[in-house]
Amino acid sequence: MQTLIIGAGISGISLTRKFADNSHSITIIDSKNHIGGNCFDYFTDDGIDVHQYGTHIFHTDKKEVWDFLSRFTQWYPYQHEVKALIDGQFVPVPFNFNSIEKLFPTSMAKRFIEALLEEFPINQKVPILKLRESSNSDLQFLADYVYEKIFLHYTVKQWGVKPEDLDPLVTGRVPVFVGRDNRYFQSKYQGIPLEGYTKMFERMLDHPNIEVKLETPFSHDMLKDYDRCFFTGAIDEYFNYRYGQLPYRSLKFDFLTFDRPYFQSNSVVNYPCNYDFTRIGEYKYFLDTQCDSTVVSYEYPEAFELGKNERYYPIVNEENNALYQKYLALAEQEPKVTFLGRLGDYKYYDMDTAVERALNLFNKEFGQ
Ligand SMILES: Cc1cc2nc3c(=O)[nH]c(=O)nc-3n(C[C@H](O)[C@H](O)[C@H](O)COP(=O)(O)OP(=O)(O)OC[C@H]3O[C@@H](n4cnc5c(N)ncnc54)[C@H](O)[C@@H]3O)c2cc1C
Repeated sequence: MQTLIIGAGISGISLTRKFADNSHSITIIDSKNHIGGNCFDYFTDDGIDVHQYGTHIFHTDKKEVWDFLSRFTQWYPYQHEVKALIDGQFVPVPFNFNSIEKLFPTSMAKRFIEALLEEFPINQKVPILKLRESSNSDLQFLADYVYEKIFLHYTVKQWGVKPEDLDPLVTGRVPVFVGRDNRYFQSKYQGIPLEGYTKMFERMLDHPNIEVKLETPFSHDMLKDYDRCFFTGAIDEYFNYRYGQLPYRSLKFDFLTFDRPYFQSNSVVNYPCNYDFTRIGEYKYFLDTQCDSTVVSYEYPEAFELGKNERYYPIVNEENNALYQKYLALAEQEPKVTFLGRLGDYKYYDMDTAVERALNLFNKEFGQ
């Protein structure tokens, strides 16, 4: 049985490896000149692990996914912390006790912290919607402060929307952390592949049953040479945009190198209220590389335009979901082809969810 996988991102590579491990021969193609899709990284001469498509931190509670990837890499036990510039101070986000103490006078901060502890359990994330429901006016104030300073302007920049168009149900999910844990994720497993993502992917594809073809865009006449195909590219592109394009948000990265040991205090700093960029990533933090230079990326959100930039985030709303459902209906009529991945499913997937989707698909089809 001849199998073709289109797209050598983390979704396509995970599925490819599962097939190869189970004695199937597989061809995997990608239109780009490298493997890894959006997770592709490379090392500078100074040994800094640069993520070409923006900062990528692996984190998961899914043991099966962690164990699967851990066959191909050791991990640097990196724990992600993000800071945001708010009212002239760099404070941890999600907002927590440390952020409160940095931004407010001592007596006020004490009141806010006591009020939080009175109403909510320690070490939990509480959505600001819940804070707003409190009868305590300090907590209501805190909810509005976090909404405006952390969420509102950032979201307007990130998605190019007007504040009044934001869905209150979604905006209400912005969390405050009741405690001092500065980490962005509390997942059990978290880290960066010790030799980078690309090296991990190379090992996953290093198998006698696997053939890799780069700079090979998919064309429909390839289907005749294979018994089945798995497509991780854009589903609307596969159907030649029959019903129009599925909208995406894109990003522009400005990469800068400095001859100094560090540029900022940690790997990611958000700028919700200032400038046109949303955040700056500094890459040497991921593997704690010790050297005299540093590489950073300024991240500017922009609209996706076919042929001009990359698809990054699907814009999930009712209208776009309805359009996706029309493509899904077409996809169900393609007997040989299965769609998956963030572009094939038109969904935002973290890396672990993308791997889980690929593993589940294989297990469902082959009962393992
Ligand atoms: C800025 C940013 C930061 C992120 N940070 C994190 C993070 O910190 N942690 C986390 O878990 N996740 C993060 N993610 C999500 C992560 O990037 C995705 O989970 C992952 O890329 C999904 O992999 P994929 O294989 O589905 O898609 P992709 O990585 O997009 O791979 C698809 C591949 O298919 C190829 N392809 C497409 N069409 C064709 C075609 N017609 N012919 C041939 N090849 C084709 C593409 O070239 C590409 O290589 C982030 C995403 C973004 C945008």
